[in-house]
Amino acid sequence: EEKSMEDIVALCKRRGFVYPASDIYGGINGFWDYGPLGTALKNNIRDWWWKQTVECPPIGPDGEPLSVVGLDSAIIQNPKTWEASGHVGGFNDPMVDCTETKKRYRADHVEVLIVEGRGMWAFMENQPDTIAKKLKKAKIAIDDGERKLLTELDVAVYPNIIGPDTDKPGTLTEPRQFNLMFETFVGAIRNDDAKAYLRPETAQGIFLNYKNVVDTMRVKVPFGIAQVGKSFRNEVTPRNFIFRSREFEQMELEWFCAPEDSPKWYDFWKHERMNWWKSLGVTDDNLRFRDHDDDELAHYSRMCVDVEYKYPFSAPSFGELEGVAHRGCFDLTQHQEHSGTKMEYFDQANPDKDKQRYIPNVIEPASGLTRGVLVLLCEAYTPDESRAAKVFMKFKPKFAPIKAGIFPLVNKEGMPEIAHKLYLDLRQKHTVQMDAKQSIGKRYARMDEAGTPFCFTIDGETANDQAVTVRHRDTQAQERVPLDKVTAFLDEQLAD
Ligand code: ATP
Repeated sequence: EEKSMEDIVALCKRRGFVYPASDIYGGINGFWDYGPLGTALKNNIRDWWWKQTVECPPIGPDGEPLSVVGLDSAIIQNPKTWEASGHVGGFNDPMVDCTETKKRYRADHVEVLIVEGRGMWAFMENQPDTIAKKLKKAKIAIDDGERKLLTELDVAVYPNIIGPDTDKPGTLTEPRQFNLMFETFVGAIRNDDAKAYLRPETAQGIFLNYKNVVDTMRVKVPFGIAQVGKSFRNEVTPRNFIFRSREFEQMELEWFCAPEDSPKWYDFWKHERMNWWKSLGVTDDNLRFRDHDDDELAHYSRMCVDVEYKYPFSAPSFGELEGVAHRGCFDLTQHQEHSGTKMEYFDQANPDKDKQRYIPNVIEPASGLTRGVLVLLCEAYTPDESRAAKVFMKFKPKFAPIKAGIFPLVNKEGMPEIAHKLYLDLRQKHTVQMDAKQSIGKRYARMDEAGTPFCFTIDGETANDQAVTVRHRDTQAQERVPLDKVTAFLDEQLAD
């Protein structure tokens, strides 16, 4: 059966995964709050990334374990950072004001305008009518007699364009640049000298600390610095639930290497990152690589590939989940020029004397943590008419917010006491929930929607046979497990 975004969003709110931010005030466009289960899911993804990237990084192409250190830099940095990185001058979306329109195509949440010589512009529903975003690489195609907008970059976002509606002829003003960085002021005086920015990516905090890390941590190139944290972008058109929001979390690794080794590392990280997403239980068919064409590469990038996921937006389609970019020596060179601090690395081990001094090249796997949450939510959502909830969330057990439910069948005959004891045991190692209320069917339904992989029921027999019934979420199969084997059972199921 089809998954729909509306159903997923509704479940997220109903079960405490994701709420609209400022819900009681009618929300605020582009911002979301992670509820108890969403926070647990997000933390599980983050912890696994940290484990696999920093604490136990992969074995490299030469058979040696890689060296990566962690960092947690400030969200607000000296504003010169963003001049050096190119974000002040270049981190823009072109926008036009719409006075009248030329050719208008309509779809679910978007109107598209085509103006000869000016390209194609999308206007989003619920946005001020004057704001448009230029579509990159868009083309209109006729498909089944219906007009559909196809863009190679962002097919997910602009589905099913129907039209044209030429009632409204008109013009667009000159495009103007709209910087995506949020501005704020540091200190009591609000003038240009006090202006600062909320970081639009975590990467620059890493480059700013490259020298500190090299000088204090005894690391040798090649090595990586990893960071997880919030980033902020004043997106012109936040959309698709938590896919594109104005406040989000990123997981970024900057891998510093010798220039001549950079192609090898680019290739290594590209495949490593794809495998990592598969390790979260994301199915192969829903993941793919997409290489960037030369004309789409960002100013700093020499090569870039996206790991894409097939999101179930109103027209299911692949969209970015992570970008792996070859940034060359762009960032460190820029910061060297702007700060006057030398970023050169001295590579004693290189036998070729001419190649001992260099500014390292950088391979950057940059992923969205909150986008990863969306991927696991979409991936897990499984409609099933045979169940009371009509749906269950099929998280890989290791990433499920709640690992097990503990249910006394009825609140008498010693069952609550046994259940309570089991609960006290299990909670020391795993996130488990005790639930003694309502019918067993309702309790299963709630756990199905929360994506809890196992439920242990203590029934009338437990006092005699010292065993409980475990119910498997995915198959609904039930089996008997001895009470003193429950912990081992759970450990084993959660191991991979
Ligand atoms: P786009 O071109 O779609 O704006 P991007 O290519 O600029 O995105 P990056 O700068 O490469 O994105 O950011 C790395 C990752 O951060 C993305 O792959 C995505 O997972 C995540 N990300 C970027 N912007 C947002 C956002 N507005 N909301 C949620 N996640 C985001």
